[in-house]
Amino acid sequence: MMRSTSIALILIAVFVLSCSDSGVNSVDEPEIFRISVVVHVVHLGEELGSGTNLSEERIMGQIKTLNDDFRRKAGSRGFNTHPDGGDARIEFVLAKTSPEGNPTNGIVRINAESFRDSIQFTNFDYYASLSYWNPEHYLNIWTEPYPELSRGLVLGVATGPQSDLPGTDLLGVGEPNHAEGVLINSIHFGSSDIESDFNLGRTLTHEIGHYLGLLHLWGEYDCTNNDYVDDTPAMGHPYQGSCEERPAMSANYMTWSPDSSMNIFTKGQIERMHFVLENSPYRSTLLNSPGL
Ligand SMILES: [Zn+2]
Repeated sequence: MMRSTSIALILIAVFVLSCSDSGVNSVDEPEIFRISVVVHVVHLGEELGSGTNLSEERIMGQIKTLNDDFRRKAGSRGFNTHPDGGDARIEFVLAKTSPEGNPTNGIVRINAESFRDSIQFTNFDYYASLSYWNPEHYLNIWTEPYPELSRGLVLGVATGPQSDLPGTDLLGVGEPNHAEGVLINSIHFGSSDIESDFNLGRTLTHEIGHYLGLLHLWGEYDCTNNDYVDDTPAMGHPYQGSCEERPAMSANYMTWSPDSSMNIFTKGQIERMHFVLENSPYRSTLLNSPGL
């Protein structure tokens, strides 16, 4: 009896060891930064899934695009083979638990039909007054019910992180004085068949780049003070070429290129985003969110 019990225990021990050997927590595997997201759909009272009341499918598709882009996923539009391009190892997950601890699909719907004329577009504090989850634990994204005529004119806006990285003063900081997150024109949220250069969900990829501390490649609109990242060729203006011998990187997410031609975050940009995620208030705390 004794002996067979010990053999059983040894077998269990071996089994446990072999599991941990091949497990996902291997120390060699690089860290993945996971961010819990809440999408506040501010709509004009349309039926679920039409107009500004975006379908769950469209929202899930947008999250997939983010993950394809930030993970440089093979076989997706976000893949590139550029020598300076990288896998940002940042993933986005629709919140599974609300700030109150309740199960959620990470989507909040706000019917603004009765006050549509008083909507304060692009005002973070206004949108936060409608719905806002603890910004220490969730990336708050609001879709704005802009009218059709704003298509291609208003895309999105993000608050930047609190950081002493050079250039972050160019990004408007949200907390602790103002609400923060990302606002996206609902027309440009996720993939759709609208006639626009911005119909594949890359507006959100770009805005989250700002949220994590990235500047446009032209930064302060001059060749020397641009984005403070070495492996993105300097630009002095969005619609001019490179300031250097190297060609401009028009496929970079931090340009204003059409959605269909973007697929690069460089290693330098990734390093900057990781620095923000590890050091900035309202960013480092995202990594331990109860929403994950
Ligand atoms: Zn921008």
